Amino acid sequence: MSLTQAVKAEARRLGFDFVGVTTPEPPASFSNYSRWIEAGHHGEMSYLATDRALHRRADLLQILPECKSILVLSMRYDKPAATAPSPENPIQSRIAAYAWGADYHDVIPERLERLIAFMEKETRKTIPNRWYTDTGPVLERDLGQRAGLGWIGKNSMLINPQLGSYFFLAEVFLGIDLEPDQTFTSDHCGTCTRCIQACPTDCILSERTIDAKRCLSYLTIELKGPIPTPLRNKMSSWIFGCDICQQVCPWNQRFAPHEGDPNFSVRPNLQTADFHTELTLKHADFNQRFKSSPIKRAKRRGYLRNIAVALGNSAKRESIPFLAQALLSDPEALVRSHAAWALGNIGDEHSQNALKQAENQETDKWVLEEIKAALS
Ligand code: SF4
Ligand code: SF4
Repeated sequence: MSLTQAVKAEARRLGFDFVGVTTPEPPASFSNYSRWIEAGHHGEMSYLATDRALHRRADLLQILPECKSILVLSMRYDKPAATAPSPENPIQSRIAAYAWGADYHDVIPERLERLIAFMEKETRKTIPNRWYTDTGPVLERDLGQRAGLGWIGKNSMLINPQLGSYFFLAEVFLGIDLEPDQTFTSDHCGTCTRCIQACPTDCILSERTIDAKRCLSYLTIELKGPIPTPLRNKMSSWIFGCDICQQVCPWNQRFAPHEGDPNFSVRPNLQTADFHTELTLKHADFNQRFKSSPIKRAKRRGYLRNIAVALGNSAKRESIPFLAQALLSDPEALVRSHAAWALGNIGDEHSQNALKQAENQETDKWVLEEIKAALS
């Protein structure tokens, strides 16, 4: 068995589904990415647009000068069932499936380290290396395509004909020669436009990119401030990420396996929680509930902001006491302001009373503006 075959076999033994090898040549999609940055589609994610990050994406040898080959690996997570958007569903169904279980930043690195240790044992030398799993300045889908794992779909996801797109990617830059795989050259999207039609904010652009500023994944996770008012209704009841453009993809519907790595299976507390009690989470509750979960990235304030918007969109009278309590007593202006918007969206006498009561006691200028807008 060649070293490349042995490394791939070990990677599969460690739980990776597909493993490909590519070279550190410049990524073909860099000019596309550069145009995406210039157009400002990255929103507030300024770390993507620094000179250092751009140079590293363009020239992979800046990441590891000794790099001779790059391993690209995939690890599956569970496939979500398509459900009608409603807060009556368990909150699990309104959270992107990749975030149901353990944080991949905690699970995947340990396996990458074991894979590198295996290679060093096999070659009996120290191998210069650098690895990433969604954490570094790497156009990972481009590298995945070049390593033969799949094609970049119109929804911008890397799609594998046998796995669909419900998987994480990791890349290991290595200072040794491995046999590169053939680039995945065919495009299996064909004339399909299902993801483009289904996207609630029309944010899927040409050139297989997304206008992040309008994407629910960005709005519910990366955006730290208020959700732009015209986009709140588009969020429906998504509270962390969005799976719509993957759920409608025929490659996921027909071919993606139902179960992924067990570490990413849904946590029981997401199956039992409901939107109303989530809105009452204190800091300590949030930190405990989402310890080692990707959801902690939104922080309590962002998560409760999203819950308030979801409840406003569902416009159920039974949500009013919970939203009123958040408006009157939550310590975060961000949460209070979105609770005000949600009450305005429900718009009945009880929600108006709660808004008037808050108007008399609120001191934050920005929250007061939201209250006034909601009352009007
Ligand atoms: S994640 Fe949701 S909002 Fe973002 S592109 Fe896909 S469907 Fe559109
Ligand atoms: S839904 Fe259709 S167009 Fe979109 S990524 Fe899937 S196959 Fe491609």
